[in-house]
Amino acid sequence: MSSTNPGPPRPQRPGRLVSLLLDLSTREAEVRHVEAVGEHFRLVTLAGEGLRGAAWTPGDMVQIILSGATLFGPWELRSYTPLAYEPDTGTTQILGYIHGHGPGSDWIAAANVGTRCRLVGPRYALSLRKAERPAVFFGDETSFSTAVALRETPSGYRGVRFVFEVDSVEDARAVVERFGMGDAVELVAREEGDRHLDELERAVLDTYRSTEATRGILTGKAPSIQRLYKALRAVGVPGRRLTNVAYWAPGKKGL
Ligand SMILES: Cc1cc2nc3c(=O)[nH]c(=O)nc-3n(C[C@H](O)[C@H](O)[C@H](O)COP(=O)(O)OP(=O)(O)OC[C@H]3O[C@@H](n4cnc5c(N)ncnc54)[C@H](O)[C@@H]3O)c2cc1C
Repeated sequence: MSSTNPGPPRPQRPGRLVSLLLDLSTREAEVRHVEAVGEHFRLVTLAGEGLRGAAWTPGDMVQIILSGATLFGPWELRSYTPLAYEPDTGTTQILGYIHGHGPGSDWIAAANVGTRCRLVGPRYALSLRKAERPAVFFGDETSFSTAVALRETPSGYRGVRFVFEVDSVEDARAVVERFGMGDAVELVAREEGDRHLDELERAVLDTYRSTEATRGILTGKAPSIQRLYKALRAVGVPGRRLTNVAYWAPGKKGL
């Protein structure tokens, strides 16, 4: 008996009503430029009529729709933090980290001039505009875009010290240099079995104390944030002075 090869799945095309609803709830954009920063980061510039006129505050996220052409899904969305957004020209930039494999990481790695996409947002994730100084900003590779978005606040990087836990210090340095974060940054290399966490905790606590910080912004990997939050609370930092937003957690998809 012969079996018919169904061939590759045909891309789903939304009907007219669904297209209209998608247009109302999402923004269409196109990749205008991609710059490799270090080995694993891509600075992706997105532009499109659909991006014009949006309200954006530094710290907001956008979600890229990686699949799902119908309203009822299943959709795959991944969150990224614009480091800049110009509503007048309909242009935004994200710094995406290629961590390995996943729809988001794969999209960032493959993004090229002309790649089209749909976005949801910008929407609130955390507000950098309100962040008092002196401040300590903790994060990892997924947080560099947020850190760079501080440039779009009235005080810029002024009064902010950064501590990042990273897989590759060399790669992270390329980002730090590209975005002029310079001496304000301390990089802590991840170690097997999370042996670096003691050093990381010390770095964050020392920086908080020595700068007499009044705000802690904790972003990046969920378990690291939990540990640092506990440590800061244990030395008397009030919870209201801490902002936590987890960007990813081991084993979880599309946090
Ligand atoms: C509000 C918000 C803002 C964000 N902003 C940015 C940003 O500006 N730039 C950026 O690069 N990322 C950012 N992220 C993180 C990004 O959305 C996640 O890393 C996301 O999981 C990547 O999707 P994926 O499809 O590649 O992997 P997923 O399918 O989501 O996950 C697959 C596997 O990879 C693991 N994984 C996910 N992320 C990482 C990582 N960073 N390192 C190691 N393993 C990982 C997961 O634990 C999971 O096991 C943000 C997340 C949030 C919630």
